[in-house]
Amino acid sequence: MTSQPKSVVIIGGSLAGLLHGLSLKRRGSNVVVLEQDPSTTRSGHEAGIAYGPGVGELLDKYDDTGVASHASAAATRIAFRKREDLKTINLVRHLSSWVLLYRILRANFDGTASEAVPSPPPPRAGDGTAEYRAGKRVTGLAYDERAGLVTVRYVSRDGDGGEESVTADLVLAADGVHSTVRGLVNAPTAKEYSGYVSWRGTVPEKDLPPRTAAYFKNNATLDFLKRNYIVGYTIPGDAGGEDRLINFVWYYNYEEGSSELDEALTDIHGHRHANTVPAGLVQPAVWKRHLASALPAVAAPFAELIARAKTPFVTKVNDVFTERAAYCDGRVVLVGDALATFRPHLALATEQAARHCLGLEKVWDGDKTLQEWEHETLTWGKRIWMGSRVLGIFGQGTWWQFFKIIGAYISLVLRLRRGKL
Ligand SMILES: Cc1cc2nc3c(=O)[nH]c(=O)nc-3n(C[C@H](O)[C@H](O)[C@H](O)COP(=O)(O)OP(=O)(O)OC[C@H]3O[C@@H](n4cnc5c(N)ncnc54)[C@H](O)[C@@H]3O)c2cc1C
Repeated sequence: MTSQPKSVVIIGGSLAGLLHGLSLKRRGSNVVVLEQDPSTTRSGHEAGIAYGPGVGELLDKYDDTGVASHASAAATRIAFRKREDLKTINLVRHLSSWVLLYRILRANFDGTASEAVPSPPPPRAGDGTAEYRAGKRVTGLAYDERAGLVTVRYVSRDGDGGEESVTADLVLAADGVHSTVRGLVNAPTAKEYSGYVSWRGTVPEKDLPPRTAAYFKNNATLDFLKRNYIVGYTIPGDAGGEDRLINFVWYYNYEEGSSELDEALTDIHGHRHANTVPAGLVQPAVWKRHLASALPAVAAPFAELIARAKTPFVTKVNDVFTERAAYCDGRVVLVGDALATFRPHLALATEQAARHCLGLEKVWDGDKTLQEWEHETLTWGKRIWMGSRVLGIFGQGTWWQFFKIIGAYISLVLRLRRGKL
């Protein structure tokens, strides 16, 4: 594809899918999003998201809700074990939440109303059509080379009816870390479990002692512990406004195949999840045991925060890198986490999705070719993928592992400078 596509199917209706969907719709394409999750509101994703300038640029261009999308942190503070304030760095990020960004994007994309955006804005003149089909799991793709069209096959999650299909000029695969489309197009992919999980949760700011709330108010704070660390920061509540939450992410080592990992990933019903045990399903005894063994070592404000989390959830931290983005003569393109999933330490996943989107706009405008976009995207992505490993191993690994990964990072940067991936 080299010009603005008329019709687009986006597989995956999370942040990458919606950023692309909104951009394409505002530029006149007719867009259908297919999302396997059946819920429209998608609440219960108690996840903080730090986002960068690309997301800001897309919201500035296309968001008509007028809803504040973030609660900025003034700086980044470093704590060390029980020492609450070792150093403050002048690194400012936009701190938001998955749910709030999702709701703002949905309001703009297909006019979905929510607590955060009760009166979604009308479409703009020149917008294409936008449809979000929830509960639809994509199972197949077929490319008609002569017609230059791709047909996407999908099934309904409620199980009624057989396979359905939809055809478009362009298909964007925004189906995340465990992408189905990567398998369908035989994408050359490296995927690895990092050796640690993230325990995550939120606590309403108003439920914390004032001193603890103040500690997290204007900072994103990292507490470095013995081969594990925690990040804490303030995010807007699901409805936006002043009902803010304090979010934590605690990276903790569990070896692949260990009984600790098995227990953490087994929910209250005895079901062993492959990657995430959602909020509300973590076994209370497992969480209690984790707190009993690990909480005494952390700085007091973190201990007070984490002990109050009612519905923590746990995710295996994996990373993924795919060596090619475009398939079927450029009519199927992988974007967001489906193309490259970084370990979350640099908090650049949503920024990557936004960069993909801003870069593809240049392709549709004829300012660069799809091949140039692919090369730039993979070069940037590989550096961030490796940089995220460096930071992860700094927090979780041994000194020996850290020096080894620094060596690998330097060798990658030199290779990339010579134009090799
Ligand atoms: C611990 C942790 C912390 C993080 N912190 C940050 C942060 O601070 N900043 C940041 O930018 N990002 C962060 N992330 C990453 C972030 O949550 C997302 O991964 C990122 O925004 C990119 O999302 P995506 O839309 O590409 O993929 P996903 O959010 O994974 O979405 C993929 C979507 O595709 C759907 N899907 C999958 N298969 C199919 C199918 N066959 N048919 C139809 N639909 C399908 C899924 O249901 C899902 O909705 C963090 C992640 C973790 C694990």
